[in-house]
Amino acid sequence: MRLRGIGPEVLLLCFIVVGAAAFALGRRTARGRRVRRDIEYFTGLDHLVNDRYDRATEVFTRLADKSHEADIQFALGSLMRRRGEVDRAIAIHTELTQHREAAVREQATFALGLDYQSAGLMDRAEEKLRSLMGSEQYRPAVLERLAWVYEQQSEWRAALELWRELPPEKQLERAVVAAHYCCELGEAALAARDLTEARAQVAAARAHAPTLTRASILAARISVAAGETDKAVESYAEALRVSRGIQLAFEREARDALPGKAEELAEKLRSSPPAEEAPLPEPARFRCEECGVASLTWHWRCPSCRNWDSLRANART
Ligand SMILES: [Zn+2]
Repeated sequence: MRLRGIGPEVLLLCFIVVGAAAFALGRRTARGRRVRRDIEYFTGLDHLVNDRYDRATEVFTRLADKSHEADIQFALGSLMRRRGEVDRAIAIHTELTQHREAAVREQATFALGLDYQSAGLMDRAEEKLRSLMGSEQYRPAVLERLAWVYEQQSEWRAALELWRELPPEKQLERAVVAAHYCCELGEAALAARDLTEARAQVAAARAHAPTLTRASILAARISVAAGETDKAVESYAEALRVSRGIQLAFEREARDALPGKAEELAEKLRSSPPAEEAPLPEPARFRCEECGVASLTWHWRCPSCRNWDSLRANART
């Protein structure tokens, strides 16, 4: 039948035009929402990079209520961790471990590992991180994070085993760190009066880093414990002449441990004095070369930036 002069082809055309218009309109609103979302997202990021955590939290909480997109949830989760609201971070990341995409699940598992580490729940942190060891993408970061977990707990043997899992070029890069792990184990053995094990750890430390000063200090302490005073003088002298910082930190220990050998030690240092270091203006005894933190006591590892062997002497002291 005919509709008063309008043919079916015209009607069909009308349908197509209206349908296309509705589709375009729908897309425009969707795109509009997307643009608004992106603006909010970048506003949140801007707050974040400028350390305005409260305002960033407001923005991301609002966004996360409206959208369940993984990137927004991750942003909010890591923000919560940074603010110390680890419970909320854990809740967000646990939810994301159920995500349909494997990549998101892996990212969530890694984030959970960091959350548990921040919360001091080291066993759970270790479990989450270890579950990603088979992931090509996360393995390098997991090895690094797990090392932190073990260092925080003074689990030096586990830290050393982890070091052995590093690729050869990374092992070389972190050889000094492995040597310090051996020294930690050696110190513990010495404290337990196991001199054989302590000596073995000194040898292991030197195999990793032949010139590690800490190994000489440990060797000197072992010699003192074994009553081998001549060897102790040698080892202390070897260590003390490395730098003013080492001399400042350990000369007194050497004198106290070897009361009859003070003059001999002093003579050795006179004949080969410690290397001078760049002067520091502040009154602190030591200062970290890496992060600048000042310290009154000696640390093999900077308490602030956790770099090994980074303390230097203050010239005024
Ligand atoms: Zn430091």
